[in-house]
Amino acid sequence: MRNGDHIRSGNEAMKRSFSHYLLSLLYPPICIICREPVRLDRDYPLCAGCEASIHAYRAPLCRRCGHQLSEPSDAYGCRACCRDTLYFDRAFSCCVFDGTLRACLHYFKYAGKLSLQGLFIKKTCSFLRDHLEPNSIDMLIPVPLHWTKQYDRGYNQTIILTRGIAQACGYPLLTDALIRTRPTDAQYALNKTARILNVNGAFVCRRQRLISGRRILLIDDIFTTGATTSACSRALKKAGARHVTVCTVAR
Ligand SMILES: [Zn+2]
Ligand SMILES: [Zn+2]
Repeated sequence: MRNGDHIRSGNEAMKRSFSHYLLSLLYPPICIICREPVRLDRDYPLCAGCEASIHAYRAPLCRRCGHQLSEPSDAYGCRACCRDTLYFDRAFSCCVFDGTLRACLHYFKYAGKLSLQGLFIKKTCSFLRDHLEPNSIDMLIPVPLHWTKQYDRGYNQTIILTRGIAQACGYPLLTDALIRTRPTDAQYALNKTARILNVNGAFVCRRQRLISGRRILLIDDIFTTGATTSACSRALKKAGARHVTVCTVAR
């Protein structure tokens, strides 16, 4: 980029933020949950009061699946995951999937409210800072959508999240390594066994050289039984990943 381009892009960014400011004076942002005005310095449409009703998971957590425990345990596995075959090494979920967060994720995923991404990125980065050991991750990879679903929706919410988390936390990002090879049914309508069958073999890893020997942080929005993230982890391990940690916004 030439020097003049820097100045031009700086001016354009200023013009954009100024027009954003003017627009927000004309149309003050409204909280997506309670419809009250939102302070102009918040970069997503959720007021501080509604945000306070979102609960983050706190230690002690299961060292394998991230389930909330009532007392600390060194065991690798808990009541929630001990019968499951899971291909990731460990999983974390940042916040409890209920009330405000559940509604926000729904708006983000199905109603195109992409302006909520800042909320999820903030919650996830703050959780990762508290729970990941320094230098324990080589790259971030999002759970992929099948291309037909991404085409219908117009975006992949998990790529948007992963990109934001990578930028905010300073991790490298790889978005095209993991592929969903066939469309799968929505997991929420299925029981545990059907969920595993639904995603079994639905993912392949095509950037083996970049994955081999690496410690991956796999990002998704919601953890329910772990079937989807486990199937992705299986593909990553097959490609030689050294370690796979799963992180979801909610559970
Ligand atoms: Zn509110
Ligand atoms: Zn567990």
